[in-house]
Amino acid sequence: MKSRRTFLATTALSLAASPLLASQKTLNAIRPSEHPTPTLPPLPYAYDALEPYIDAETMRLHHDKHHQGYVNGLIKTEAELAKARESGDYSLIQHWSRSLAFNNGAHFLHSLFWEIMAPNGKGGGGEPTGDLKTAIDESFGSFNAFKAQFSAAAKAVEGSGWALLHYRKADQRLIVLQAENQHKLSPWGSTPILGLDVWEHAYYLKYRNDRGGYVTNWWNIVNWPQVAKNMHEAM
Ligand code: MN
Repeated sequence: MKSRRTFLATTALSLAASPLLASQKTLNAIRPSEHPTPTLPPLPYAYDALEPYIDAETMRLHHDKHHQGYVNGLIKTEAELAKARESGDYSLIQHWSRSLAFNNGAHFLHSLFWEIMAPNGKGGGGEPTGDLKTAIDESFGSFNAFKAQFSAAAKAVEGSGWALLHYRKADQRLIVLQAENQHKLSPWGSTPILGLDVWEHAYYLKYRNDRGGYVTNWWNIVNWPQVAKNMHEAM
């Protein structure tokens, strides 16, 4: 991956030095066929590592089936859009544009979700420290006030969706949002750094209809050092 990117960057730079050919050849140098294909990232821990808060069977289905399905959907969507560009037939553009937002959102959020959890006592649980603690205190008043707002948002998502903590670059503030499905109610200009999946597939095997119990228990496995890292990257 790294060598391919280096190769592409080098090619684009050397062509840019030749003004007549630069623009077309630079475009050619990064054809869609050479973009990395979206892939399912491996879980950073075992399926049962988040027990008893999230059970192994839920993790296996959620990661191997649901997330894989979104990755497949994203690959299919991008292939269909490439076909449309080739044929000039944009009669299904609305469908594929929606599909791109949905599957891209799902792939992004699930990749974030696996990352921001860790086994309790081995990176998961406790409270944020350092810059992240300061940012939470400044944005919400206190960690407890943030936690209460985030939990309430998660419990109140209508149907399938997410509770999300975003970093907003313009004023360096953290904000809590809900997302419906994988993408709706999402604003521009801020980056999710922490997310809680409250689709039924994320908790129903163990918690049945008790979404509140799932939300309450989930705090035991939040990987705060990773959330802090995400915030710094978003800056
Ligand atoms: Mn999910």
